[in-house]
Amino acid sequence: QPVDLRQVLSAVLDEFRPRAERKKLQLDCLLPNELPLLSLDPLHIRQISHHLISNAIKYTPEHGQIQLEVQQRIDDVLVVVRDTGIGISLREQPRIFGRFFRNDNPLSRAAGGTGLGLSIAKALVEMNHGSIYFESIEEEGTTFYVAFPLALACEPLPHNPATLVDAA
Ligand code: ATP
Repeated sequence: QPVDLRQVLSAVLDEFRPRAERKKLQLDCLLPNELPLLSLDPLHIRQISHHLISNAIKYTPEHGQIQLEVQQRIDDVLVVVRDTGIGISLREQPRIFGRFFRNDNPLSRAAGGTGLGLSIAKALVEMNHGSIYFESIEEEGTTFYVAFPLALACEPLPHNPATLVDAA
């Protein structure tokens, strides 16, 4: 199904505005003016982005900042969710996509959760031919990246070299 990532992501982000406001978090959104429609499952994309944004809010203390960004790159579209939260220790990083993993800091305990969200998000990203990875520094913040290949574009891309050859 053709999905406009900008539309789905900004709708999900809007749902979180009240929650972010209560926590005095700054929510920023950087979207490109144009983006090809990608053949994805819109419900999966909603669920994935919902989860990443929800975690970013959950694991970021008051007055922090959360940024959602979408970039079109040479051969993929990259969704970035960046937070200035508690981060994930190097020791825990290899385990966070595992089922039922939850770390043991006070903010996590207070926030609650099952530890299933990220493993589900990863499975959904992969079902849509994407990949997910992250970078994190403890007490500084975490950035999640989700990349979908441009091969999923619903129409040929205007700058695709193959199209130029055809026209010649
Ligand atoms: P639920 O799935 O019910 O929301 P959860 O948030 O504990 O619960 P996951 O989303 O799977 O579960 O995340 C697993 C663990 O990874 C979390 O408990 C937390 O320790 C860590 N984590 C995930 N996202 C972040 C983030 N943005 N910043 C810091 N830690 C994070």
